[in-house]
Amino acid sequence: AKAEGKHRWCRYHSELLDQAVRRAELRAALDEALAHGSLTVLYQPIVHLHSRRIAGFEALARWPHPTLGLLGPDSFIPLAEETGQIRELGGQMLRLAVRQAVTWDAPRTGHGCFVGINVSVHQLRGEGFVEAVRDVLAQTGIDPRYVVLEVTETALLDHEDVGVREHLRDLRALGVAIALDDFGTGYASLISLHDMPIDIIKIDKSFTSRLTTSDRMRRLVRGLLTIGDTLGIGTIAEGVEEWDQHERLLELGVRAGQGYLYSRPLPADEASALWAASRPL
Ligand code: C2E
Ligand code: CA
Ligand code: CA
Ligand code: CA
Repeated sequence: AKAEGKHRWCRYHSELLDQAVRRAELRAALDEALAHGSLTVLYQPIVHLHSRRIAGFEALARWPHPTLGLLGPDSFIPLAEETGQIRELGGQMLRLAVRQAVTWDAPRTGHGCFVGINVSVHQLRGEGFVEAVRDVLAQTGIDPRYVVLEVTETALLDHEDVGVREHLRDLRALGVAIALDDFGTGYASLISLHDMPIDIIKIDKSFTSRLTTSDRMRRLVRGLLTIGDTLGIGTIAEGVEEWDQHERLLELGVRAGQGYLYSRPLPADEASALWAASRPL
């Protein structure tokens, strides 16, 4: 039995070792990708629910890995946050997304569309981020109203974190908008609305998905909307996958939605073509 235990112990440790090696490899490969600027961005439309025309796009990071294929953020953002690579990564995403968004000056309608950019709390806390945003605004000349920084509420959990709050204020002073991402899934939702300068809440897809089956959820979302309206905060419903959900959201008075129903995240050229076509999705 003792030998078996030892065997198990070894296997456990060799798995840990494998994990550590894989992590180190992934980290090195990510450094390489960052040095070569090989990360890319997909753009998912966010539509006005009423017209189903594009209101903006959310920028979503992708990593074309040399051997593992196209990686989604879940397989490298947490790592990048742990290693601190998120600052460089986030800076690159910011510049790519804003440079893309300046090309979306409205051809016909007279107004442009916004770009939502995910910002990690590690970026927000850091000293350089406000500067990076100021720089990219100046370099591109984009109307800052079209830049929306998406921050998750868990990121805002630490309200003692004066740095984060002040940086958000500084960012807002630059004219960009702040969205509270995954709203309703964290612990700090309502207090965040009080303590942080929030312009938009993105209602998490766990709410959207229950709308068609749960009257209780419909009431809850109606309540969230009232809160938003009271505070002058706009709402976007995430994860809209079905027409029934779309109809429910319209009934409830939600104005904007995002989800596979309208479009998957798209490469920049396809996103631009959709925007230029300006027809309902
Ligand atoms: P998120 O900010 O909540 O982004 C929405 C995620 O939901 C995206 O996954 C999107 O592809 C997916 N999605 C969109 N519509 C639907 C739908 O109808 N149904 C379902 N089931 N999913 C839908 P993605 O691209 O894998 O991104 C995952 C998360 O990674 C994002 O969640 C965001 O938190 C993070 N992320 C992405 N890009 C960046 C980045 O540049 N920086 C940072 N810090 N985080 C990022
Ligand atoms: Ca987001
Ligand atoms: Ca979200
Ligand atoms: Ca999420």
